[in-house]
Amino acid sequence: MKSLKENFQTSHILIIGSGIIGKFNALELSELGFQITIVDPAQHKNSSNAALGILMGNIYQKRRGRSWNLRKQSIELWPKWIKFLQEFNYELNITKPLIQLTRNEEKFKKLEKFINENNDDHLRVLEKDSIFIKNINKAFQTKNIKGIISLKDGRINANSLLKTLDMYLKNKKINYLKEEIIKIRKSNNQWISTTRDKDEIKSDIVILCNSLKAVDLIDNLSHNLKLKPVLGQAIEVDINDAEVDLLSLPKQFNIDGKNIIPKSKNKLIIGSTDEYSTKPENNIFEKLTNFLDKKPSWLSNGKISKKWFGIRSRPDGEPSPIMKNLDDGLIICTGFYKNGILLAPACSRWVANEIKQYLS
Ligand SMILES: Cc1cc2nc3c(=O)[nH]c(=O)nc-3n(C[C@H](O)[C@H](O)[C@H](O)COP(=O)(O)OP(=O)(O)OC[C@H]3O[C@@H](n4cnc5c(N)ncnc54)[C@H](O)[C@@H]3O)c2cc1C
Repeated sequence: MKSLKENFQTSHILIIGSGIIGKFNALELSELGFQITIVDPAQHKNSSNAALGILMGNIYQKRRGRSWNLRKQSIELWPKWIKFLQEFNYELNITKPLIQLTRNEEKFKKLEKFINENNDDHLRVLEKDSIFIKNINKAFQTKNIKGIISLKDGRINANSLLKTLDMYLKNKKINYLKEEIIKIRKSNNQWISTTRDKDEIKSDIVILCNSLKAVDLIDNLSHNLKLKPVLGQAIEVDINDAEVDLLSLPKQFNIDGKNIIPKSKNKLIIGSTDEYSTKPENNIFEKLTNFLDKKPSWLSNGKISKKWFGIRSRPDGEPSPIMKNLDDGLIICTGFYKNGILLAPACSRWVANEIKQYLS
């Protein structure tokens, strides 16, 4: 009988989809010694490349259930993976802290209650005279913004993360195929995945990390999973006002659901929207700046210098994400309509544990 390690080294795993979930699974499984192939026809045009990279871990207010457990595990795993990946890109880091703000008194009371109920030294209510609140109120010309700070949460630059993972995968000589899988089937204990060019890829295990398209590959296997497309949009705004220094603002913060990331003295990113759609909207500036009743002139006169979007998948009729063992050697890891960047380490760990169990 083969040892578990030998089983790993001789098992070929095909990962379909090369967004953050596919790439992270490849990292986790490659470190365990598996032979990996990743297949994706358009790895640079996915929702992972659109992500802002905010990691809402500790600041998440529902502290129970599967969603919290995945967050908790990811919060623990992220620093270890960052350290590991810094070998390929020493600049990769999580910039902290993360600030959550609101103009709504009732919402603020809830945030305050959450902090008071959770005895966590890394979470605090921001006092009105804190430097963060003062600078935000000054820049946005408001008086009523209040909120909380999480010293442990922050942001990872999603593009830099994806590039670093590519460097790792290249270094490990992981097989990458620029192909689309149109069909999977099982034959003699092996999975046969057919590409659009009619090539066949044999593997012992298949992991579906191809977001919305995952259900197309399993329909014929009669699994009743449904996914809905969710559009996310973001903009980069250039401002032209010598009086305002956007770098006086915190590195990343959220006001009533909109994430704001100052990039330089006169440039900031705002994102993102969440709607059941696949087509970007034209009135995106209005939508993304509606967190203020009255915009300061520097913002209303700001010019969009970049805009982008991504289509995510949201499970219909069950919680996000979908992580299931569908058949012997067939795992699905999809439905990350939010927080895919945050949750990637915990979800990849789950997949690895399922595979270890399957092979033992
Ligand atoms: C504007 C915006 C902002 C966001 N901000 C954040 C944030 O701050 N923090 C956070 O954690 N998350 C954020 N997200 C969410 C995050 O981007 C997603 O949760 C995550 O990217 C999902 O990753 P994925 O790998 O499942 O899907 P994707 O990145 O969409 O990758 C799926 C891949 O599968 C491939 N594929 C599809 N069909 C096939 C096939 N048949 N064969 C082979 N390959 C196939 C596609 O080409 C694609 O590359 C944001 C998203 C958007 C759009």
